[in-house]
Amino acid sequence: MATAGKVIKCKAAVAWEAGKPLSIEEVEVAPPQAMEVRVKILFTSLCHTDVYFWEAKGQTPVFPRIFGHEAGGIVESVGEGVTDVAPGDHVLPVFTGECKECAHCKSAESNMCDLLRINTDRGVMIGDGKSRFSINGKPIYHFTGTSTFSEYTVMHVGSVAKINPEAPLDKVCVLSCGISTGLGASINVAKPPKGSTVAIFGLGAVGLAAAEGARIAGASRIIGVDLNANRFEEAKKFGCTEFVNPKDHNKPVQEVLAEMTNGGVDRSVECTGNINAMIQAFECVHDGWGVAVLVGVPHKDAEFKTHPMNFLNERTLKGTFFGNYKPRTDLPNVVELYMKKELEVEKFITHSVPFSEINKAFDLMAKGEGIRCIIRMEN
Ligand code: NAD
Ligand code: ZN
Repeated sequence: MATAGKVIKCKAAVAWEAGKPLSIEEVEVAPPQAMEVRVKILFTSLCHTDVYFWEAKGQTPVFPRIFGHEAGGIVESVGEGVTDVAPGDHVLPVFTGECKECAHCKSAESNMCDLLRINTDRGVMIGDGKSRFSINGKPIYHFTGTSTFSEYTVMHVGSVAKINPEAPLDKVCVLSCGISTGLGASINVAKPPKGSTVAIFGLGAVGLAAAEGARIAGASRIIGVDLNANRFEEAKKFGCTEFVNPKDHNKPVQEVLAEMTNGGVDRSVECTGNINAMIQAFECVHDGWGVAVLVGVPHKDAEFKTHPMNFLNERTLKGTFFGNYKPRTDLPNVVELYMKKELEVEKFITHSVPFSEINKAFDLMAKGEGIRCIIRMEN
């Protein structure tokens, strides 16, 4: 590539301040250093995690910053020591990486890589503590090691999954975060037995993917819980069989669910980020065998409060990042599920905008409209 080893000037959507619309700027993207790759992003989409850290209401503010972590692109050049991917490879960036060498990466049970696990406060590369983005020599910070709201971005090689080059990036880009997270939360973590009843709290992209995962695992009743009734019609396409809007009841939703299910659901998956929903999701599972899985990213001061008796009564509480998938090892296989038509991703994609209109994707999410909005970098 003619650009290898050189600074690339390109467009990026920069968040200068918390909650202010992103502005498209010309940024300089430095070449990848040791164990890093520079990737040309073709498609990216907006996930609620970007919005939380952009609003920075309950999170550490790090600005100016380039957000974005759900995307698909092509490797432009690689730094020293990179052997796993080469220029031209199709990759999905992942907000939580896999170094393949630490105790977590070597354990079959964990995807919490010591080196590259999600860190939302860090705005620089781990190699040298510097940013690869700048405007007039001033650094612009990274987000979750991905920063995909840029035509080119630099990532640690452990934060990209090499995928089948035949997979359409405008579709499979949504597998790089939300959809795989929800799917894995059900299939890999909640593991609902065949014929079981599952409650899904929050019917955004992640929750709908969790419903889809519960359906694939063979659950027979899937109860969607959301404060936004507009979500219910759409959720039927993802396997939800019943709905509960906590606003329609004057008793705790745990009680409503217990009455509907003869004592509690077998599994629940929380995909809201709201602490009350997290507690409800735990307390609504059946004693003796119920398992609740937390997926939503909470406010930084949130505290989980429940009576210890709820645990003694043999309920289990778990949490997961990225649906317990090891990004580099497992994500290519999730893409193959799509290629084999065992997993449909099109139904998650409800909107699409050119990069110049990226703020529209934020507006849609604020209004709770649609599921995923694809941002096209090239037109
Ligand atoms: P989203 O905003 O599209 O969906 C969230 C849904 O939850 C909305 O429909 C909202 O109405 C509903 N909701 C909010 N509060 C509720 C409450 N108290 N009770 C019931 N429903 C409620 O978001 P998303 O993109 O689907 O992401 C969901 C969550 O998952 C976010 O917190 C996001 O940060 C998190 N996330 C976690 C991981 C992970 O690896 N753990 C990965 C991606 C996203
Ligand atoms: Zn590791």
